[in-house]
Amino acid sequence: MTKPRLLILSLGGTITMLPGDAGGLTPTLGASDLVASVPALAEVAEIEARSLFRLPSPSLAIADVLEVARGVEAGFASGTDGAVVIQGTDTIEETAFLLDLLVAGDKPVVVVGAMRGADAPGADGPANLLAAARVAACPDARGQGTLVVLNYDIHAARFVQKSHTTLPSAFDSPGCGPLGVVAEGRPRFHARVSRLPAWPAGDGAPPPVALIKWAMGDDGRMLAALPDLGYRGVVIEGMGAGHVPAGAAPAVGALAARLPVVLASRVIAGPVFTRTYAYPGSEVDLLQRGAVPAGMLSGLKARLLLGLALRRPLPPGEVGAVQAAFGPYQ
Ligand code: ASP
Repeated sequence: MTKPRLLILSLGGTITMLPGDAGGLTPTLGASDLVASVPALAEVAEIEARSLFRLPSPSLAIADVLEVARGVEAGFASGTDGAVVIQGTDTIEETAFLLDLLVAGDKPVVVVGAMRGADAPGADGPANLLAAARVAACPDARGQGTLVVLNYDIHAARFVQKSHTTLPSAFDSPGCGPLGVVAEGRPRFHARVSRLPAWPAGDGAPPPVALIKWAMGDDGRMLAALPDLGYRGVVIEGMGAGHVPAGAAPAVGALAARLPVVLASRVIAGPVFTRTYAYPGSEVDLLQRGAVPAGMLSGLKARLLLGLALRRPLPPGEVGAVQAAFGPYQ
């Protein structure tokens, strides 16, 4: 039987890191080193391995992920059956969601990393990479967009979050759980997500979008400065189901008259509300003042979607296109 073809792209991260001259971990290994360290990969697929970057993931930029998306699309166009993207765990949830938005079609894209360095006792990179390749090569993974595989859990890009700074079990999908597990070397799905609209990588890079997490007593004075700093959109992580202090609500409305403002929640799980509370600063008040609800997307992910939706300039006050972008996530 012919084996599936997989493209493995590495961007850096702890999974590629070894102690450097100064003693601490730095990105060192490339995609071929990682593939060579897991001989069982050869039983899973025919592999093409490429190192695009050797970066710690806090230094990955949205433009870098656009390049990854174009590489994956080119691979798919030339007959590759699935893709594995190796990167640091700090920003996996952002890369995965961006790839989910950017790469159209049914072929699986799986993002993977490791919580322990490549030479650490109990390094989790090799097992994670093998599990990710098994998922990317699995017919059941098709049609679910980008997935994240760590610690044998299979997560959907739109739900996954890094939830611990150090444990190999750091990744969670709060409020819904993983879609499946890799057990005895076999991916088993117990839930599926449907494909949502794609935002082609070829349409260019998004403009800057600010993300503001609301804290007790903040009057929102920083909001007025954001347009002049060059931001073209703003995501607010409100309190609870999407709230700010009463005194800050006019600042949110004034900003929404100048830029698209999306309302998310600083709470780890659950959708932003749209029709329950009506006090000043509540979600009903903020939506009436022009904010657009992020639905079940976290602030980090809402920021990425808003950026893609704003690649074509919107006339001031024109939020219909932003509402349409967030519609499927409500
Ligand atoms: N700081 C590292 C990174 O994101 C952490 C990791 O890879 O787990 O590159």
